[in-house]
Amino acid sequence: MENIRVLVRVRPLNYRETHLGANSCVTTTNTSVILDNKKEYNYDHVLGIDSTQEQVFNKIGMSTLESFLNGLNCCIFAYGQTGAGKTYTMQGKGIDDLSNDDIHLGLQPRLIQKLFSQLPKDNTWSLKCTYLEIYNEQLIDLLNDSKPLPLTIREESKKVYVENLTEIPVTSYNDVLSLLQRGINNRHVSATQMNLESSRSHSIFTIQFEQRTKEMYTRRSKLNFVDLAGSERQKLTAATGERLKEAANINKSLTVLGLVINSLAENPKRFIPYRDSKLTFLLRESLGGNSKTFMIATISEASSSFQETLGTLKFASRAKNIKNQAIINEEVKGNLESLKAEIKRLKNELQQQT
Ligand code: ADP
Ligand code: MG
Repeated sequence: MENIRVLVRVRPLNYRETHLGANSCVTTTNTSVILDNKKEYNYDHVLGIDSTQEQVFNKIGMSTLESFLNGLNCCIFAYGQTGAGKTYTMQGKGIDDLSNDDIHLGLQPRLIQKLFSQLPKDNTWSLKCTYLEIYNEQLIDLLNDSKPLPLTIREESKKVYVENLTEIPVTSYNDVLSLLQRGINNRHVSATQMNLESSRSHSIFTIQFEQRTKEMYTRRSKLNFVDLAGSERQKLTAATGERLKEAANINKSLTVLGLVINSLAENPKRFIPYRDSKLTFLLRESLGGNSKTFMIATISEASSSFQETLGTLKFASRAKNIKNQAIINEEVKGNLESLKAEIKRLKNELQQQT
């Protein structure tokens, strides 16, 4: 069993915050955040206002990649109020115009770049990607360029999946980058068509890895990058009827994520309401299940964001208590004959040794 690991990253004051007279209310050490020089919160890693994208990768990316290549499911969530740096940390800036030494490159492209440099040079592996968005409890396929239909979640022999979700095989870093770009474009299109605000949607980018280790063994692992909707409280003023329903639904996945995290942190044996939202149903394994999971909590150092920052830090503290158990997803394939042959071969080997 291993706890969900939490990294907090602080974003420096931006022009607007400075202009409006905000000052910093956050100080940090390598493992703690101190708010208003008073209360201290502890995490696995804390990166202050001067931190680089490379540091984020070194703290989280390397170990995630290693586990993923070894056949473990992995998940990285980004949580925080809108504008705190979730997308910057996960994807980076200017993802459509990437050069290899771009200092703004986020965790996701860095990890994928490294992944391709570490894959064996033979043909024993395959990778495929999916990219989806959850808005107002509807699932949108970001890799389907035609008019997106809302998708349905299915469950079959305890496996949860999205029906008809586009899966695209990839063989290079550039393949993945162009998929990310495609997803980002489609996200903008759906945002305009449906009159939605992207800060209120969750996006999930998944890479699935399949590797034949020995003749008959197949390892399968999944890596989810989850960029959550802004955690700030929604104003429900002036909303009535359908609008009100929509407003209540919009953050349902985020609300239920909070409930699931609370329940798991308090007592994982009791009933956990995974099915109450699309996000938690889909990512059930990443929360209290078979996965190695990281949560990145992003905050602004601005005094004007004090309340939201406090909320994010408390959320991150609870997430830290969740225990997951990642196991190597290995499967023996092949027919009975080849299994018998393998047993015979191993027996011979043993005899020769003794
Ligand atoms: P979110 O996805 O949480 O809404 P963004 O990642 O889009 O927020 O960040 C908002 C703005 O702040 C962007 O212009 C981004 O480039 C900038 N930003 C975010 N994090 C940092 C950081 N750690 N250092 C410098 N600029 C940042
Ligand atoms: Mg964002």
